[in-house]
Amino acid sequence: MLSYQHLYHAGNLADVHKHALLATTLDYLTRKDKPLTYVETHAGRGLYDLTAPEAVKTGEAAKGIAIAEGWFPTTHPYARALAATRDQRGATFYPGSPLIAGHLLRETDSIHLCELHPQEHAALDYASAPFGAKVYHEDGLAKALSICPPTPRRGMALIDPSYEVKTDYETIPRVVGQLHRKWNVGIIYLWYPILREGYHKPMLAEIKAVAPEALIHEVRFPPVRDGHRMEGSGMVMINPPYGIETETKRLTGLFRKLG
Ligand code: SAM
Repeated sequence: MLSYQHLYHAGNLADVHKHALLATTLDYLTRKDKPLTYVETHAGRGLYDLTAPEAVKTGEAAKGIAIAEGWFPTTHPYARALAATRDQRGATFYPGSPLIAGHLLRETDSIHLCELHPQEHAALDYASAPFGAKVYHEDGLAKALSICPPTPRRGMALIDPSYEVKTDYETIPRVVGQLHRKWNVGIIYLWYPILREGYHKPMLAEIKAVAPEALIHEVRFPPVRDGHRMEGSGMVMINPPYGIETETKRLTGLFRKLG
């Protein structure tokens, strides 16, 4: 039973971290003419109205993108995707990762998006239609394993689970290992929350065992409200493009200023 809805959390500081790294990576990849494949296992609904009651209730965007927007000059690919979304959908809208990919990729690139929640899937289907994405109402991990290595072989997969199911922390590193073996040139990004309880630590150890060269980037931020368990955001990056470390260092400095 899926109950997580990203609308409560869209545009929070974890999204800023994840989406800035995603946009920077896609920007590097599209500097070459060769077409690429983008696969997303847990896509969400793609488009979020930050004035919706769910978003206002948590106030996470107000303490996230509303504060961090100035970190990104207008030429930054994340800022470009934000601006394109607002131009096309309205000033209060925020792009999820599928729309960030949609805005930064080209017609020659292939986009595969998986989302299991029926309403989120329907909304995603609608929001991503202008980009010609293939949208699947299927388990994203199984689907990624079935289509990878994809055609074109060059490209990336983003794995962004909601970690609702306790076993996610065991299943996901296993699937990341399988995916990396099947698609050894593929760029694979896995997002994880840094919770007070440290659930991510054994997961990272398992990933390091199958992909020792993986780059791990973590940022910390003040909990969004008293008692909130998320203290930071992490990204595992397997085969990241050359140059991503410039952005990780820049983000580290910016997040540190939050205290
Ligand atoms: N990646 C999105 C973004 O950054 O805009 C946010 C995704 S949200 C954190 C995780 C999504 O995964 C939820 O919409 C949830 O319904 C979906 N989900 C959960 N389990 C799934 C599964 N096994 N396969 C596909 N989607 C799943």
